[in-house]
Amino acid sequence: APKLTIEGLRATIEGKEILKGLNLEIKGGEVHAIMGPNGTGKSTLASTLMGHPKYEVTDGAVTLDGEDVLEMAVDERARAGLFLAMQYPSEITGVTNADFLRSAINARRGEGNEISLIKFIRLMEGKMKDLEMNPEFMHRYLNEGFSGGEKKRNEILQMLVLEPRLVILDEIDSGLDIDALRIVANGVNAMRSPERGFLIITHYQRLLNYITPDFVHVMMQGRIVKSGGPELAQRLENEGYDWVKEELGIVD
Ligand code: ADP
Ligand code: MG
Ligand code: MG
Repeated sequence: APKLTIEGLRATIEGKEILKGLNLEIKGGEVHAIMGPNGTGKSTLASTLMGHPKYEVTDGAVTLDGEDVLEMAVDERARAGLFLAMQYPSEITGVTNADFLRSAINARRGEGNEISLIKFIRLMEGKMKDLEMNPEFMHRYLNEGFSGGEKKRNEILQMLVLEPRLVILDEIDSGLDIDALRIVANGVNAMRSPERGFLIITHYQRLLNYITPDFVHVMMQGRIVKSGGPELAQRLENEGYDWVKEELGIVD
């Protein structure tokens, strides 16, 4: 089973420190939720774990099963089983969803182990049906002209076919109506397994009504300042973040 360990992680963007010594451990079978006010560094954490070049890691360590993730190139991280569903998926003109997914699957599987076209099509058809996606999406350019909800479903489609070991979902719930939210949550719940860990970043507790986390963490000012169970998410929903600041003496 996978184990992701983040220790004392510090990262900057354009010289500005955003992650300020973040610690977190995620094991296979566990679902962790990170909640926090806007601008606190949640997306920065997700992008830094995936190796986005915009962010510079200045201190700390990240390992997956003891392997140094920070030393890995972006594609090596994907091959190791890290997966990020982004808050703002980008549009790629000229690359169809099918092209993109097939090369992503083959990159994950490695040379000499590529998926056959027939198997790929069957896999896509099955998963798209589960997500109640129109089959024509397979042939459309990646995310181009997709609605917010369609983009999010497409991110989940990628997760389903790539079978990652460590899944990071960054505000997968934003812009989803209640039906789409339920479909996305079902997709995630179907992927829960002892062989897979989840980090779910969300601004709202609503998603956690559908995906019950084992651990809830509050992130503020670039670090995790408080951890608990699902009841913590409920309290944040009811009372906001001020009580956490007061309790911990955080001034902003
Ligand atoms: P969250 O996802 O928690 O809302 P982000 O990780 O997106 O927060 O942003 C964290 C901080 O990084 C914010 O204060 C934001 O203004 C800052 N930030 C994001 N991009 C840049 C950039 N290109 N240059 C400087 N600061 C940035
Ligand atoms: Mg934000
Ligand atoms: Mg964000």
